[in-house]
Amino acid sequence: MLSGVHFILTYMCSSECDHCFVYGSPRAKGTFTLKQLKQVFAELPRIGTIESVYFEGGEPFLFYPLMVEGMKLAREMGFKTGIVTNAYWANSPKDAELWLRPLSELGLSDLSVSEDSFHSEEGEESKAGYAVAAAKKLGITSGSICIEPPTVEVKESRGHTKGEPIVGGGVKFRGRAVDSLAEGLPGKDWQDFTECPDEDLKNPQRVHLDSFGNVHLCQGLSMGNMWEIPLSKLVHDYDCDSHPVCSGLAKGGPAKLAREFDLAEDRDYIDACHLCYLSRLKLLDRFPQYLGPKQVYGLKDDADQS
Ligand code: SF4
Repeated sequence: MLSGVHFILTYMCSSECDHCFVYGSPRAKGTFTLKQLKQVFAELPRIGTIESVYFEGGEPFLFYPLMVEGMKLAREMGFKTGIVTNAYWANSPKDAELWLRPLSELGLSDLSVSEDSFHSEEGEESKAGYAVAAAKKLGITSGSICIEPPTVEVKESRGHTKGEPIVGGGVKFRGRAVDSLAEGLPGKDWQDFTECPDEDLKNPQRVHLDSFGNVHLCQGLSMGNMWEIPLSKLVHDYDCDSHPVCSGLAKGGPAKLAREFDLAEDRDYIDACHLCYLSRLKLLDRFPQYLGPKQVYGLKDDADQS
């Protein structure tokens, strides 16, 4: 049952992290307009199962007034709300409270803050810490998301062959992480990746929406385009088994996808997402309605989207 809708309010970000799934950066295109935001909210009651709405990015605080309008719409419709941010705006404890108080008054119930070495320099005062402390003071549930640069560890635990090197740090190898962090890390044969580790593609609980109309099941893997087919119809008609990319992924993970389309190469892959992402990259032009936008794959989009 689809219960959560997450707006990628903008792909633009104050940072340009190596591990970013969606290739966020200060130059990234793709920000919702107010009209688009309202169009999506009009569709949400028609889905009938939505309980919560999140604002993410990129960095949603870059478009604070738009995010506030989204929060108002969500409150009018009785949805729980959450925001994911890198807290670039939390310059001091008082500033953090200044930015968060209006959102608290609009009923913000969850604030997730990225706090790791990708987002802050060692020794720098913790903006994430200020944001989390201010959220607590205002009664907003908050937590931090921590992803560290990849490390190679030798695990001897269940699920891993004895002495086999595995990559730690929590990075998922999709998006910019593939181009920036993958080199030199140990991998496995493509046929080992027989499961999608993170997404329930048969019965998705949440989708991410972007201003280009993509309804992401995973970053860059879409149900379809909501500017062409209304969001509620896309959600009601979604059938994993007839989706050309999701069907294989759900049945046999990225290995099945790669086998179906003959995409695997004679090389190792770091994790399932690494194989999935590189396989989907090769299918972009074949399934443009399901794979995109191209900038999430580190490519320039055909049209000059804004
Ligand atoms: S295997 Fe593919 S669909 Fe599943 S979480 Fe990884 S990148 Fe996403």
